[in-house]
Amino acid sequence: MTDQTSTPVLEHWVDGAPWSGDSGRTGPIHNPATGRVSGQVRLATSADVGVAVERAATALAGWRDASIAKRQGVMFSFREILNARKQELAEILTAEHGKVLSDALGEIARGLEVVEFACGSGHLLKGEYSDSVSTGVDVYTLKQPVGVVGVISPFNFPAMVPLWFLPIALVAGNTVVLKPSEKDPTASDWIARAFADAGLPGGVLNVVHGDKEAVDAILDHPTVGAVSFVGSTPIARYIYERASAKGKRVQALGGAKNHMLVLPDADLDLAADAAVNAGFGSAGERCMAVSVLLATESIADALVGKIAERVATLRTGDGTRGCDMGPLITREHRDKVAGYLGVAEADGAEIVVDGRDVVPDADGDGFWLGPTLIDKVPTSSAVYTDEIFGPVLSVVRVAGYEEGLALIEASPYGNGTAIFTNDGGAARRFQREVSVGMVGVNVPIPVPVAYHSFGGWKASLFGDAKAYGPQGFAFFTREKAVTSRWLDPSHGGLNLGFPQHD
Ligand code: NAD
Repeated sequence: MTDQTSTPVLEHWVDGAPWSGDSGRTGPIHNPATGRVSGQVRLATSADVGVAVERAATALAGWRDASIAKRQGVMFSFREILNARKQELAEILTAEHGKVLSDALGEIARGLEVVEFACGSGHLLKGEYSDSVSTGVDVYTLKQPVGVVGVISPFNFPAMVPLWFLPIALVAGNTVVLKPSEKDPTASDWIARAFADAGLPGGVLNVVHGDKEAVDAILDHPTVGAVSFVGSTPIARYIYERASAKGKRVQALGGAKNHMLVLPDADLDLAADAAVNAGFGSAGERCMAVSVLLATESIADALVGKIAERVATLRTGDGTRGCDMGPLITREHRDKVAGYLGVAEADGAEIVVDGRDVVPDADGDGFWLGPTLIDKVPTSSAVYTDEIFGPVLSVVRVAGYEEGLALIEASPYGNGTAIFTNDGGAARRFQREVSVGMVGVNVPIPVPVAYHSFGGWKASLFGDAKAYGPQGFAFFTREKAVTSRWLDPSHGGLNLGFPQHD
């Protein structure tokens, strides 16, 4: 379908088919590498969301009662489709998000891991059984789905973040309404269609596109039992407060400002490679990106030199052209990120590599800022305190371990952090002392594998369940404890006291 602007319109996916809903509103989808509008996306009204939730509620009885084997069978088929067609999905990611193709394939690989975990996780849907807790009495637990759940995802991982939640929510027997980022929504549509091809019944997974109106409708709908959110901290806090006030279970993953501490005994080449990969991969638009390098004074000059040398070799440009780094998501975001270079200059920091000078390998008028390295950033500067979410790596010089740790502890965020050192004692101390949810030891982006769980501390996660892994199953299931006695006639009789064991 096309609209007045003659670009295709991406519809919602409800009850196993495209659906336009009632809203006349649409939003533009850009290719950030060219700056051109490539399509429009439907923006749902709250009534549209109501219809999707209703369809999900209708589909619940059949899906919840399908055997674990049947639900896992769908997941196996989806795994095969996703693996066979991942290049197609990667091209969608590059076209709408801008990340380079190799990075897009990496994103899909991390999502695929969760799908594979869900395929083999029947043991996480098992209850427990205690035989003869009292004479003739057994107690056991059932793990049942929560019901209809809402998933609200950010722009920066349009495939991976939905795939953190969908496989687990679905295999556990829930039905889902997904509201992806309106900036790069096509990946979610692709995933929903692939699930349909894998045999997922209509209504079990619905995708509703939209903005705040659609999100608020999910948060307020009485039939939605749980909400999984990933996005910026102010919105995560809002989601948590509003949805939990409505009695829903909520996990709301927020923003980050990840520090990488480099001690003097670290391998500086390894640390420089890691800082560049983790600082500039995906143009710094990763919640686990390293944005602050805490360099101990004695090695800071050498380390900054090595990083600058490496940055000079990076190619920035269209993600389909074999470049290292792509554009930022929107023109407004590019301008905002570039604005921090002026702030750095005004605050007395030293710009070592200036991304504003970049000449991208691209056509058109994309949203470009090259890799930027800023040294001697004062910790009072907004460059240090704000989540910039772009290709800007700030260096803060510290006297040693204690000062580095104190800075990480003072940050309101606690998503990821890393220490680079060859001193096992220092690394062990760091992993135990630091108030951050995911810690790397000589690993700059410590994203846990799918059979652990992903999530930060402090203002990086509101709620008490992390994403995927065992905590994902805990979030998407409700435990029911059954106390059962198969009657033995010798145990009858009246007794109005609170039951005691006998
Ligand atoms: P965002 O908070 O702007 O948007 C996230 C989602 O919320 C989108 O679906 C959006 O439509 C919706 N939304 C936006 N404003 C809203 C409002 N006022 N009311 C209701 N809903 C609203 O985030 P983004 O810019 O899409 O993504 C980048 C952010 O996500 C960064 O802060 C990044 O650190 C964070 N992030 C965190 C993690 C993590 O695991 N902690 C992972 C990825 C991204």
